[in-house]
Formats: sequence, C-alpha cells, structure tokens
Amino acid sequence: MNTLLPTATAGSLPKPSWLAQPEKLWSPWKLEGDELIEGKQDALTLALAEQLQAGIDIISDGEQTRQHFVTTFIEHLSGVDFEKRKTVKIRDRYDASVPSVVDAVARPKPVFVEDAKYLRKQTKNPIKWALPGPMTMIDTLYDGHYQSREKLAWEFAKILNQEAKELEAAGVDIIQFDEPAFNVFFDEVNDWGIATLERAIEGLKCQTAVHICYGYGIQANIDWKKSLGSRWSQYEKIFPKIQTSNIDLVSLECQNSHVPMDLIELIRGKKVMVGAIDVASNKVETPEEVADTLRKVLQFVDADKLLPCTNCGMAPLSRNVARGKLQALSAGAAIVRAELGG
Ligand SMILES: [Zn+2]
Repeated sequence: MNTLLPTATAGSLPKPSWLAQPEKLWSPWKLEGDELIEGKQDALTLALAEQLQAGIDIISDGEQTRQHFVTTFIEHLSGVDFEKRKTVKIRDRYDASVPSVVDAVARPKPVFVEDAKYLRKQTKNPIKWALPGPMTMIDTLYDGHYQSREKLAWEFAKILNQEAKELEAAGVDIIQFDEPAFNVFFDEVNDWGIATLERAIEGLKCQTAVHICYGYGIQANIDWKKSLGSRWSQYEKIFPKIQTSNIDLVSLECQNSHVPMDLIELIRGKKVMVGAIDVASNKVETPEEVADTLRKVLQFVDADKLLPCTNCGMAPLSRNVARGKLQALSAGAAIVRAELGG
C-alpha cells in the first residue's frame, strides 16, 4: 500500500435487508442452503462496491458471511456442542447462553477461505479479513472439557493459525483478530493472551492486526462505559506488551471516546488503525471532524503508520448512515493527506 493514510474499516458493515434484518446485531439469516451461499456472496460484492465508491483503500469483508463475529467461527469447529447450553458472564459484564466445549476442539474444514477467495477475485485493493481472537473465543463458551481458560485459548490459537494460513494463501493481505476481551482481563492478556495471539499468527507473511474495543452500543456496554469515568485508561495496562509483540497493526477507537490519545504513544512503532468514526451514533461525522481527530492522533503515531478507520463495526447502523460515515472517513483522510503533502 503506497498511499499515505490508507483508509479501512474495523469490522462489520450493515447487511442488505434480503439477507438479514438490518439495524440489528447478530440477526439470523433470511435465506437457507444454496440461496444463502449465493446471498452471502452477493452481499460481499455489495459491501465491496460500497467501500470502493466511498474511497476506502483497504477492503474489509464487512462480516457479510457471518452472523456473529465469534459464534459463526466456532460453529464450524468440532468439540463444541451447540445444543448443550450454559449461561456465563461475557467479559464480566452480561449473561449469555453459550455452547459448551465437550471434547477436544478441532477445525475439520476451512471456515471463511472460500468467501475470501470470492472477495479476492473481485478487487485489486488490499483486503482484510477478521477472525475472533483466542481470548474472546474462550470467553464466549462454557468449557466442560479442558477446565482451563488458558489451555483452551492455546487450542483455539492453533486452529486460528490453520485458518489464517489458508486465508493468506487465498490472497488476504491483512488478517485481523478481534479481541474485545483484551480490554477486560488485563492480567490474563499479559500472562498468556498476547502469547496465544502470537501463536495464531505464527509463520504468517501477511500483515496481522488486533482490534481491541469497548464494544458495540448495546445496553450492557453503554452501562459499563458509564462506570469507567472520564478517562478510559484500560489500554495502559496492555499496550506495553502489545508494543513488543509480533502483531503489525492495532485497531482502536478514538472518535467520541474517553480513551486518552496520549496512550497511543505506548504502542509507538506499530501501525495504528485509528477509529475516527463513532459507530454508536447515527450522526454522520463531517470530513473536518474526522480530519481533526487524525491531526490530534498524529502527535502519537508517525504519518506512515496511521490508517484512518472506524471505531468498531457498523452492523447496527442503517446502510445509509454507514455509507455516509465511510464517505466522511475517506474525505477526512484526504484533507489530512493533502496537508501532509501526500
Ligand atoms: Zn469493536
């Protein structure tokens, strides 16, 4: 990527209404069987077209081929029983009914590789594919087999590495691991969370990213954010370890966020996907607002390592709002690029 300040999105994009109910997180598919396969591919094509039209440089899969960013991946693994459900606390925050690990986990066949090949064929732009991170995966399950969060995380890391290597071979340029759990279990992140993530990227030659975040705008997250005060310094506890890791890029939120920007100094040297678009609001940012966030961040990130991005996924937004936000991101990045002489 030669462009200065290449734009990207952190994760999901709204799905078309014929595929799944819009403006709703994790809404079920409206199609089945071969129609669903075709529908997902059409949605990928649409998501690509909308990103290109908005001037986004690094094309994301927009999570068009998955219902949930963690569960859909786990559904394809053996050793997990989706009938045997238990209620657990997700990220120490809210109760959810989750499947159980009942046996050794394995990946009998590739999960997203065919989808990635399909997207790869349609664009010359760099493409980014998202997978759940090991720690976030174990946090979304009841473990009745390994009886150890760490052990299960290492097993998932091995499986993720298999999938990542095949995604790389399919032509994916950046593989991103979503780790919202990194923002909660600080001791575990430092003890083994980052180590398992490094196991997941072992041997990869493509770029790798980790997305850490304060979550979508669901009520449990909104309540949690209210409890955090005005200075969200959680990243302080994990950034030093991430800085020395093998991960190439870090994706984090900055727009309308209480994350103090100076914390980004702690990962100096990494490429940073800077969230300059608030995904918890329907208000479309102006290009000038985006530019303003990017200018501030430039104090802590070298220009050649800054990727203007969204705070998190945009699945819960209307397609119209999401489109507006993508255009604002692109226009805002163009302003700062011109200022930098790029
Ligand atoms: Zn996120």
